[in-house]
Amino acid sequence: GDLSCEQRGTIIAHFGKQIDVEALEGEDKGSIHRCHVRANIEALVTGDEVIWRAAPDSGGVIEALLPRRSLLQRPDNYGVLKPVASNIDHIIIVQAPVPEPYPTLLDRYLVAAETMDITPVILLNKTDLINEQNREYINTLFGRYSDLGYRVIHASAKQQDGLQELFEFTQDKTTVFVGQSGVGKSSLIQMLLPEEEIKVGALSEFNQKGTHTTTTAKLFHLPMGGNLIDSPGIREFGLWHVSEDELVYGFREFRPYLGQCKFRNCQHRDEPGCGLKSAFSNGDISTERMNSYRQLRDSLDDLEIRP
Ligand code: GDP
Repeated sequence: GDLSCEQRGTIIAHFGKQIDVEALEGEDKGSIHRCHVRANIEALVTGDEVIWRAAPDSGGVIEALLPRRSLLQRPDNYGVLKPVASNIDHIIIVQAPVPEPYPTLLDRYLVAAETMDITPVILLNKTDLINEQNREYINTLFGRYSDLGYRVIHASAKQQDGLQELFEFTQDKTTVFVGQSGVGKSSLIQMLLPEEEIKVGALSEFNQKGTHTTTTAKLFHLPMGGNLIDSPGIREFGLWHVSEDELVYGFREFRPYLGQCKFRNCQHRDEPGCGLKSAFSNGDISTERMNSYRQLRDSLDDLEIRP
């Protein structure tokens, strides 16, 4: 049948070759259309802005991909990077006093965000569980990240504390939440989204192969403006592979010293004249972050996904 004129849209979900596009303009603005994709367009993902045409049957055809601001990728079983979601502005790394923070895992998430050039922010949830026993540890740990220039938002989904700051931070941006299981991601997401918008459980649907991590990402609109993109795979994205070069770059305070190594191909292990090593002995790099870097580097081989 006849196709209407070209218009802009956002991909809000996809199911194999079927893609749900939300109209960004025109009388239909906000309406959702299940679209096919013209041949020879690269792999599309949730968050993509596209040019599409509506078909008479309420479906449509995607004709072009518009430039992406950012791209979350993960390697497939063969180590080939596949796009997962795009146009993300903020990665919120959720932490909590319980389950006990694992700083190396936090660093892993930060490295992943840094290498994608997406701004990470740390959200310390469950502040209601801070007590005499853990206060000093928590303050020292997250104080270290504030000192590195990372924003740390304190919140309690349970007591509805700090949520205003979270609302303001996410407004008019596209955000993803990451963090280990049990820190309160679902609880925070439920605060941000009205009930009818999201069924968090629905994201855990199993695909045909019986795995849930490949469930594709979905885009939700925040009531105050902005979007949330979520999927079980995105929530654990920081555990994906990075190269050794990306790892060292992902420790943001290391960067000024990387050019100071005596050898251009310095591996920052124990070479003479290593810029990182001298920054560390001068106290310009914390022991915790250095240890974390070494631990992650040593585990890279394990994290690497091989064919
Ligand atoms: P997720 O696995 O990261 O999505 O975490 P959930 O949102 O499922 O939360 C895990 C558990 O922590 C649940 O029992 C929540 O009720 C609880 N929880 C979430 N936020 C808070 C909080 O701010 N304070 C306390 N005390 N418990 C919380």
